[in-house]
Amino acid sequence: MTSTFLGMPVYAPKGVGGLRGDEPFPDAARTALANAQLRRNLGHATRTIRGKRAAVVGEVPDWEQLRLAGEAVKAATMARLPELLVQLEERVTARGATVHWARDAAEANAIVLDLVRAAGADEVVKVKSMATQEMGLNEALAEGGVTAWETDLAELIVQLGDDRPSHILVPAIHRNRTEIRDIFRRTMPDAGDLSDEPRELAMAARAYLREKFLTARVAVSGANFAVAETGTLAVVESEGNGRMCLTLPQTLITVMGIEKVVPTWTDLEVFLQLLPRSSTGERMNPYTSLWTGVTPGDGPQDVHLVLVDNGRTAVLSDPAGRAALHCIRCSACLNVCPVYERTGGHAYGSVYPGPIGAVLSPQLTGVADNASLPYASSLCGACFDACPVRIDIPTMLVHLRARHVEQRATRAVPSPEAVAMAAMSWVMARPARFRGAERLMRLGRLLGRRDDRITTLPPPLSAWTAARDLPRPPGQTFREWWRTRPSSSSAAPASPPEATGD
Ligand code: SF4
Repeated sequence: MTSTFLGMPVYAPKGVGGLRGDEPFPDAARTALANAQLRRNLGHATRTIRGKRAAVVGEVPDWEQLRLAGEAVKAATMARLPELLVQLEERVTARGATVHWARDAAEANAIVLDLVRAAGADEVVKVKSMATQEMGLNEALAEGGVTAWETDLAELIVQLGDDRPSHILVPAIHRNRTEIRDIFRRTMPDAGDLSDEPRELAMAARAYLREKFLTARVAVSGANFAVAETGTLAVVESEGNGRMCLTLPQTLITVMGIEKVVPTWTDLEVFLQLLPRSSTGERMNPYTSLWTGVTPGDGPQDVHLVLVDNGRTAVLSDPAGRAALHCIRCSACLNVCPVYERTGGHAYGSVYPGPIGAVLSPQLTGVADNASLPYASSLCGACFDACPVRIDIPTMLVHLRARHVEQRATRAVPSPEAVAMAAMSWVMARPARFRGAERLMRLGRLLGRRDDRITTLPPPLSAWTAARDLPRPPGQTFREWWRTRPSSSSAAPASPPEATGD
């Protein structure tokens, strides 16, 4: 066992991995909204998953108690994370595996590449893993001359289509089956005149991947959970590709965010009930693989666990934001989010889209690097209702918006919004100033005469009218109206109440 000090909390580094997009959310969302096919695909897929989830969740009489238990276990785990991680390392090491610690994505990528090279391999098979997407592992391996083959069907579609995942659980949710058929025909040598029947598509992918499973000497996986008391790692999946990767190759490298640890098997039991119903809408996922270190003569004999921070300790250091680390990546919040349903995942820029992405990504990178994401929400609260571990995403979004505003307030050049707010504050601090501003507002009556609405204003006010109209200012202020109105009671004051001032 090594005693490791991970250092002071730092954000995920720039230039590596998939946590930062190329453009702010509103710009990317505008492009996505113009794609009618994308909206149709997303609407159909999210509606289907929502329906399945609602049906199986409705069957569980103590669902709310399970959610409360999940929330409590996660909160207790975060409160003693360092101790649990050291316990996990002890137990994993005692069972013949090797634990590596990575401060960030660059370190984790380098560790995995070294291990693959040490195994003498130039290709690896992969189980679907958000952590490795976050790190940009495939790209880092490719730069090092190693080919990574995604074996989850949806990940394979994304990889062969030279595309980006757009959903945590269903990475190719933005594709319909005709598009998938075209990708397979283009990229699979034996695809022939493949139809768009789901079974035929699945069989084509199966045949394509079979050779990879049988020849790969190294597999890379993520982990849904790691049980500290025994050092057991867990992967839940639906297709069996994970089971093949976890058992056939000689070397198994598991890459896991440090927040995935749970204290005991009893705690794991809670999440194995919550996760499948919330994610795929199933009572139990078809494959749950559990392994503890090395079993002599059975399965991989060279087993590694890479524990990755990459901004997580920075998230942990914020008491109001740390619940984002409770996420079990079920994606239920994505499927109920009206914003996600219309824009899809690419608009979020990060590999973590939807409501959880809007709170997790800015915390991992620092709010300044994903400043538009906390605003990518209507704050309707559907995500909180759906979340199996009761993460209060709406409150966290407001918290991150406040952090963003506070950060901007310290800039040498204030933003137009900050200038406008300071001006408003000055005007509203004194009744006389407010009265003067009301009189000035009357000039606005020169605009919008046709239909009583102002639809265009010059910059910087055009930022407002680009998305909304303004009502034309009334001819009479409230105070003027108050003075002239017929008095209904002799007790009514002659003028509206007013703060004292100059
Ligand atoms: S925030 Fe909750 S609902 Fe969303 S992916 Fe995470 S666990 Fe699932």
